[in-house]
Amino acid sequence: MAMSKEDNRIKGPLKWFNLRWWARSLHLYPFWVTFKYFLRVPQAELYHPLHDEHSAYPDIAPRYRGLLGMDMDSCIGCRKCERVCPNKTIIMEEREINGKKFRFPAYFAGRCLKCGLCEEVCPAFSIRHTDQFEDAGYWREELYYSPERMHQMFRVHIQPKIDAGLAHRAIPDKRRHPEEHKKYLELEEKAKAKA
Ligand code: SF4
Ligand code: SF4
Repeated sequence: MAMSKEDNRIKGPLKWFNLRWWARSLHLYPFWVTFKYFLRVPQAELYHPLHDEHSAYPDIAPRYRGLLGMDMDSCIGCRKCERVCPNKTIIMEEREINGKKFRFPAYFAGRCLKCGLCEEVCPAFSIRHTDQFEDAGYWREELYYSPERMHQMFRVHIQPKIDAGLAHRAIPDKRRHPEEHKKYLELEEKAKAKA
């Protein structure tokens, strides 16, 4: 660490009695700062993808748009998500299942704007934003989500919520808070009873 002007002013034998001069001369100051922060209570909380198998992160807003998940069982391969994507993030990939060829979307998370257009246009409610925000990686390839990887995201982060009644299969319901969603279901029941 460079000596400051103030330190340079301390000259002669007087400097031997100055703790600050010693600390700076022996480069102890950075160690002191490190030690001070080492003793402090951590300022950040770490979440790991395996933190909770249903990814029930406590403070995520219900309408948060994170990484995309896609249900390969219900996707009809219509390519609407691919065509609507403003950043050309989604590409269709072909897979052979039981001797038949199907198309499924894959996407590159590094180019995704999180605009939500793909999930809005999907007629089968197959592509959905999860609440997963950890979309960083050491390599570009890590940001590529194949249909299988997207399907896994759907299975782990969307399906359990649908099963638990915290999200509806249809998009507009997913955008509601669980309490709002309950009211919506009641209204829907009343409307059905009247019809
Ligand atoms: S959220 Fe928007 S940018 Fe991202 S894949 Fe869907 S349509 Fe494309
Ligand atoms: S995810 Fe939805 S919009 Fe995209 S191809 Fe499948 S069914 Fe069509």
